[in-house]
This record gives sequence, structure tokens and C-alpha cells, in this order.
Amino acid sequence: MRFETIAVHAGDRPDARFGAISVPIYQTSTFVFEDVGKTRGFDYSRVANPTRKVLEDTIAQLEGGKAGFAFATGMAAETTVMHLLKAGDHVISGDDVYGGTYRLFQHVMKDFGIDFTLLRMDDRRKIESAIRPNTKMLWLETPSNPLLNITDIEMAVDVARRHNLLTVLDNTFATPYLLKPIEFGVDLVVHSTTKYLNGHCDVVGGAVVTTTEELTERVQFLLNAMGTCAAPFDCWLVLRGIETLAVRMRQHEENTRVVADYLSRHSVVKRVFYPGLESHPGHEIARRQMKGFGGMVSVELKGGMAAVNRFFRSMKVFSLAESLGGVASLAEHPATMSHASMDKDHREKVGITDELVRLSIGLENVDDLIEDLEQALKRR
Ligand SMILES: *Cc1c(COP(=O)(O)O)cnc(C)c1O
Repeated sequence: MRFETIAVHAGDRPDARFGAISVPIYQTSTFVFEDVGKTRGFDYSRVANPTRKVLEDTIAQLEGGKAGFAFATGMAAETTVMHLLKAGDHVISGDDVYGGTYRLFQHVMKDFGIDFTLLRMDDRRKIESAIRPNTKMLWLETPSNPLLNITDIEMAVDVARRHNLLTVLDNTFATPYLLKPIEFGVDLVVHSTTKYLNGHCDVVGGAVVTTTEELTERVQFLLNAMGTCAAPFDCWLVLRGIETLAVRMRQHEENTRVVADYLSRHSVVKRVFYPGLESHPGHEIARRQMKGFGGMVSVELKGGMAAVNRFFRSMKVFSLAESLGGVASLAEHPATMSHASMDKDHREKVGITDELVRLSIGLENVDDLIEDLEQALKRR
């Protein structure tokens, strides 16, 4: 089956009992045993839940992985994955990852004896020279949040395999519709399903997709032991979102190309970050490994914080809000919002300036988006 068909039909549906076409929400904590030691496949909703299972099977199939797991949030998924490691291990991660990922690494996992080297994942030698005898994991995010940097996944996986490192890729920005990390040999895919997979800004959730029996068993064990799983209703919302993922991503992309083109010609815009632009340093790699360039674009504005504030205050269609990937267009200020949890000196080092504005291009008519940007960017 092809992507769009999997998105609508994967997993146990229509439901075996009554044929409901919409996946039933099994809002239950526990399941009655048929006999001592004999269940109908489920015993307790932390371990597994039928609604969650359909979502997990759907995401696993869309990513082309072995098994999927649904978590309460993207951060719950990441926290669980980090527990594949133990004190004394070392991780190499992109230096411009999502602010919450940075915070988890630097301000939580470090206290448990895990060490991190953060670097730009654009150079094989740079990665190789950061590898130590205790390095166990390579953490990738491409396109990255909020700078839309592109990592050559084939190159990164090749380095990881030569040194026996587990590769994890945060596929939140691209989604499996545009990028299939497992096809390039990535071991684990993580998602904030809060974003494009749900697509309607009405839930927070996360997911992990595994590629081997061993990883599947270990992630299932950790999810249950740590209790980081997603609730049935939340899973249902993400499932409903996924059914339209392909059409949404196509339209997000179409709108974003128009917006990125417009912004790159605007006189008050200093710089546009969008891998779909030929001027983007990762454009060729993105073209090779992705089916499209996605719906996120960042811009650096001229005129300092005054211009940034004026822009945010003037927007009418765009809303000033955290998060991304929904039907409604959002604009946010990474330095004080999504990446405020990143230490200031690190933020400046990687290029997340105070003048950087991140846009999540929604599904409104693109002419209305352009008109809104036009009036918000006008110098007054
Ligand atoms: C939002 C986000 C996360 C965290 O997900 P939550 O659902 O907010 O916990 C992780 N990675 C990326 C790239 C994100 O955009």
C-alpha cells in the first residue's frame, strides 16, 4: 500500500467488533481477563491500549519501521529514548536542535551522567573527531528547528555505523511524507506528533519508531516502566490528523514556497531560511533525501527588536504562538519562546539571533498570507 492509503487504513480498522470506520476510543484503564493468565490481547492501558495500538501501527508503517510507540508528548518520547543509555555514555547531537531537546540534554540528562557534544552536523570530519570510546548515540534533527539546517543523513549514518553508534532522527519537521529516515539506515525515528502528524493544534503527543527486535523490546519496556505513554483520546486525535497528512503537507509546501519566494525578495528581510530556496546551503542534500521542503520558514528581519515587535503586533492572519505544523499559520520568536530554554551564549553561537522569526505556514489561502506579511513588514 502507498502512503495515503496506509494513513487511512493501517492498523486494526475498521474495528473487529462492530465495524466502526472511525477507530473507537478505548477510554479504559484496564481490561477484563478471559481466564487466569489469559487476556484478549490487552491487560492495562499503560502497557498497551487498542486505540494507541492503531496509531502506533500506522506511524510505524508510514515510517517503514518495525514498531511504533505513542507518547504523552514529543519530550516524553525523547526522554524515553535517552533512557536507552546509561551513566558514562556520550552523545553527539546537532547544535541547533529544538530548544526543549537541548534543555533535556544539557539540564536533565547531564545530571544523570550522560555527556553531550553539540556540533553542526554538516561535516563528516567534525563528527568523527567528536567520537570518543564511550560515544553511543548520534542525535539528528533535519531540517532543524528553527534554522532549517539540513544534515546529510547518508553521511551521518555511515559515520555512526563505522563507530557502532545508535542513530536517532527527530523527523518532526519533515514528517514521513517528505522524509523516510529509516530508508537511509537511521535506527530510531522520534516525533512530536503535536505538530504536523496531528496538524490541528488540539493535542500534544510524541512517537518513536524502531527498526530492530531488540530496540522494539527495549522501547516497549521503557515506555511501560517509565509510564510515558499517550492517552487514548490523544491518540485518536493524532490518528485523525494523520489521515489527511499527505494532502496537508502538499498544501503546506505549496504555500510555503510562495511565502519563501516573497520573503527572499523583501527589502526589510535580511535572510530567509528555507531549504527549498536554491540559495540555501542544504538545498541539494534536501532535494536528494526529501520529497519536498516542508512548511517551515524562518527569517531574519532588519531593524532589530523594534522591527520584530512591530511585525508580531501587526500580524492579523498569523498568530503569535509556540508550536507549528497546524492548519493555522503561526509566527514565533525563537529567542524568547521555543528556544528560550537554550543558553544565551549557545543560542548566539549557533545563529539563533534576536531578529530571527519562525513562521509555520498554514493552509489559509496563500494570497491572504502574503497580504498579511506585506502589511506587517511595512516600515512605519
Ligand atoms: C515541538 C518539538 C519537540 C517537542 O515536542 P512536544 O510535543 O512539544 O513535547 C521535539 N522536537 C521538535 C523538532 C519539535 O518541534
